[in-house]
Amino acid sequence: MKNKGSLREKEKLISEIVEISHLIYQKGFVSATDGKISARLENGNIICTPTSISKGELKKSQIVEVDPEGNLVYGIYKPSTEIKMHLFIYKQRKDINAIVHAHPPFATAFATAALSLEGFTLPEVIINLGKIPLAKYATPSTDEVPLSIQPFIENCDAFLLQNHGAVTLGTNLKDAYFKMEKLEHYAMVVLLARILGGEKNLSNEDLKKLSDISLKIYGKKIKI
Ligand SMILES: [Zn+2]
Repeated sequence: MKNKGSLREKEKLISEIVEISHLIYQKGFVSATDGKISARLENGNIICTPTSISKGELKKSQIVEVDPEGNLVYGIYKPSTEIKMHLFIYKQRKDINAIVHAHPPFATAFATAALSLEGFTLPEVIINLGKIPLAKYATPSTDEVPLSIQPFIENCDAFLLQNHGAVTLGTNLKDAYFKMEKLEHYAMVVLLARILGGEKNLSNEDLKKLSDISLKIYGKKIKI
């Protein structure tokens, strides 16, 4: 029975990864074969999108499975070197079961200008994403990438990668995807606000009130 349950769980996650891959491609959050989506299985293995396949054309049969060390367990394709960053995050965040990495244009514009989105401006973004820091530039596919995000993994569910893109972490795939969508929307709003004279951050008093409400309604303290 346990195996059947695990198989159903895996099939569901594979379908969700394909669905979200198509969605991030349609929304322009990635171009060509960019980006990576992954999810953690109950047995600790990770299933993810393969290297060199467009997210817009991805099929269920192309999903790859690796063990927590990154060794290929199943798949016709390779997982791509960006899996290193995902495995690094899963090891340190037991509460996280899905990761979306993409290059959405507004968030990536901030990352490319070496600007974080750490200000506290929109209540819903503060509650859902908390602080959105900028991880220092790291050469893709090297061990510099995990090191660059190390300072933020414990306390952040969304961060920018300098001169690269963005990463969001979720308790499940939908959660990680919605965080990416929210991050990109927020980056667009901040950019527009800057054209209009600049966004105004909430005061410490407002943040305290927001934190109390978040705790009361959602049972979670906001990460400031
Ligand atoms: Zn990337």
